[in-house]
Amino acid sequence: MNWISYVIIVLVVCGLILEWIVELLNLKAADPKLPEEFEGYYDSKRYSLSQKYLREQTLVGLWHSLYSTGILLSAIFLGLFNWMDQWARGFGFNEIFTGLVFIGLLGIASSLLHLPWGIYDTFVLEEKYGFNKTTWKTFLFDQLKGLLLSIVIGAPILYGVLWFFESAGAWAWAWVWGLVTVVQIFLMYIAPVFIMPLFNKYDPLEEGELKTEIETFAKKESFFLQGLFKMDGSKRSTKANAFFTGFGRFRRIVLFDTLIEKHSVQELVAILAHEIGHYKLKHIFKAMAISILSTGLMFLVFSFFIKNPTVFAAFKMESLSVYASLVFFGLFYSPISSIIGILGAILSRKHEFEADHYAKERYGDPEALITGLKKLSVDSLSNLTPHPLKVFLEYSHPPVLKRIERLRQS
Ligand SMILES: [Zn+2]
Repeated sequence: MNWISYVIIVLVVCGLILEWIVELLNLKAADPKLPEEFEGYYDSKRYSLSQKYLREQTLVGLWHSLYSTGILLSAIFLGLFNWMDQWARGFGFNEIFTGLVFIGLLGIASSLLHLPWGIYDTFVLEEKYGFNKTTWKTFLFDQLKGLLLSIVIGAPILYGVLWFFESAGAWAWAWVWGLVTVVQIFLMYIAPVFIMPLFNKYDPLEEGELKTEIETFAKKESFFLQGLFKMDGSKRSTKANAFFTGFGRFRRIVLFDTLIEKHSVQELVAILAHEIGHYKLKHIFKAMAISILSTGLMFLVFSFFIKNPTVFAAFKMESLSVYASLVFFGLFYSPISSIIGILGAILSRKHEFEADHYAKERYGDPEALITGLKKLSVDSLSNLTPHPLKVFLEYSHPPVLKRIERLRQS
């Protein structure tokens, strides 16, 4: 044990305590009285079901984080990282390939350790509340496809990152930043056509009233509809959604089949107007710029952290390496990445209000968006009264009642 060991314990335990405090406050804030705005949408039975769902989801999450923390601390203090490192070095590869084996092994171990929680979440929790539609076959294939993608895409990127940090000297962080940014933009560009279809089916939205209404609105806004797709969200869950993805030639607007099923044409166009608002107001571009800048900051800070002997001693490692530095760095960077996450969430909530405002002004039917939002909340049993601290730290969208309140203001 050296002083870094104590820093690790403080970081991990404080993170856990903070999470428990926030979640318990959030549970306490759940108001058993149905908010007036939702009368007629929620009956008292379904509303109390939503609070039961919240409680159960929260408890599972809390146990999961306790489990992860226990495993992380045991792995550090039992010297498991060193054991894996020695195993990876046993193959006699060069530093970079040894790093790929080490990180690959860690990735597989961590996926396997978290798999039971994923199974519980999908087949017990979501099933119990009637959301789950995922079959075992879909679940299994999702895992395999995820693994395959991380090998095909993740391994070459990791190879590049390690190579630059091994051989590019003081400016390695800038080269890595450039590489990761180029790959990130390229992946965002091709994902709608080459990656997302591996998981879901995307069909062009069929002719009919909905398509005509959307086209009329898009034309009025001089928004070029590149692709309007319906996705088989019902393959995994009854929960509904809509999103905007990609840019340039491959960009798409996607509506879940579950969304189309449960909403009126006006509600759907209002929801779509909100999505178009994100595009028109350049939210996607802004979010991407911030993500690129924070990646640069991360690699810059990392470059001062590489092969720190005190850190390696705290992790009980026999040999110093760039790849293990990369793994350990995640832990020490977590306070900074949390702060960036909170700032990102603040910006995202601001963008949501702006996109709502855009939809209201341009589509001119605020009630359609309001009933659309209400139906979405009731349908997914979402928490209507989250604690403000939880919202501040984590919510990417403002609570639905706040959004409705804003939409009603003239
Ligand atoms: Zn939005």
